Amino acid sequence: MEFQLTAPPYPSSGNFSGGAPVGVTVLGATGSIGVSTLDVIGRHPDRYRVVALTANRQVDRLLAQCRRFKPEFVVLADSDAAEQAQAHITSEGLATTVLTGIEGLETVASLEQTDQVMAAIVGAAGLRPSLAAARAGKRILLANKEALVMSGQLFIDEVRDNHAELLPIDSEHNAIFQSMPVDFDRGLDAVGVEKILLTASGGPFRTADAAQLEKVTPEQACAHPNWSMGRKISVDSATMMNKGLELIEACWLFGTTPDRIQVVIHPQSVIHSMVSYVDGSVLAQLGHPDMRTPIAHAMAWPQRMTSGVKRLDLFDVARLDFEVPDLVRFPCLRLAYEAAAEGGTAPAILNAANEIAVEEFLAGRTTFTDIPVVVETTLNKLTAVPAESLDIVLDADRAARETAQDFVKGMHA
Ligand code: NAD
Ligand code: MG
Repeated sequence: MEFQLTAPPYPSSGNFSGGAPVGVTVLGATGSIGVSTLDVIGRHPDRYRVVALTANRQVDRLLAQCRRFKPEFVVLADSDAAEQAQAHITSEGLATTVLTGIEGLETVASLEQTDQVMAAIVGAAGLRPSLAAARAGKRILLANKEALVMSGQLFIDEVRDNHAELLPIDSEHNAIFQSMPVDFDRGLDAVGVEKILLTASGGPFRTADAAQLEKVTPEQACAHPNWSMGRKISVDSATMMNKGLELIEACWLFGTTPDRIQVVIHPQSVIHSMVSYVDGSVLAQLGHPDMRTPIAHAMAWPQRMTSGVKRLDLFDVARLDFEVPDLVRFPCLRLAYEAAAEGGTAPAILNAANEIAVEEFLAGRTTFTDIPVVVETTLNKLTAVPAESLDIVLDADRAARETAQDFVKGMHA
């Protein structure tokens, strides 16, 4: 078996049998996915126990979570924020140890008392802690798609070599996982899967023309029609880079190539993705767009548990529409297809240049339509090489950030 996400015989998880609660580390606890994860955990206090919570520098929100869930550890990646948190924890007499930096994140991703790690840090910053969880053989609940996009083969190798489990949280990938046969690790041909239909809402500018796209503000880009998410992924949804990153993510998770993944615009976001089989069957997963469904699914898998998500009312939905994506108005999706086909460090370069371009756009220093220009220029200036080690991937990430930043500076000169 070359490719393995989850090791049979599929273990029972989530203390459904009355044993000790399953220990969970939530990386990126203060973000959109982190908060939804704690909401699900809060519904099942007998099954799950929070071992560690992390944030970049949101002290107040993390402390509030700390008072409620009483973790053994909290990590603030920022050292000043960690000092502030320590002062509060000491004065309130909480029995929580405060750690900081990337080492702190890696430590809590690999603690012995942690069974599951929610990887919900945004961007490349999540790579090393997610890899640490893989190396420690944990069940990884993967929301941080950028980590897999950057380091695909290395990540999958660590999961396989250390008998970790990789369960997708991204709603599309979770839907694909649910629509796949359990033994898809044998390869898509072996299990009769012809292709994956990756759905996309089309974002807030699905019907906007080129002139309108030039005038988009950060607030408009962050106002997604169906999902409430962090600012970076909201902009990615608006440019459709999110679907591009998801295309690459799907290749690694399901051991396939971009030509077997078709992006389908589905504005209602009710079908979360589909799998098409050689006998003509198409299996789909549907649901109200709320990330607590994939989170609860992956935490409880192979069982099921409640998530607090509103039931899907098909009469309310009434219709499901589908469209072909427009790669001219949304060049980020084309760039991701190209980077996926090129392979090696190209996806890491694409990802890093995109992170810089989105940051600059959110800071008001570039326009919305500059985002694909920054990414394409960076991809053209740098040469992709085989992604054989973490150092090579991190070097490509660094070089792409510098190149993208220099290009943006030049635009204003
Ligand atoms: P968010 O911006 O709301 O939260 C990000 C979290 O990461 C916060 O807790 C923040 O403190 C932490 N963080 C940010 N930078 C950090 C750094 N340098 N070091 C350590 N921690 C850092 O983001 P989100 O919307 O929750 O998304 C998280 C991840 O999940 C992203 O990779 C995103 O693509 C993915 N995802 C999100 C959704 C969604 O609905 N929000 C859906 C699918 C996938
Ligand atoms: Mg998604």
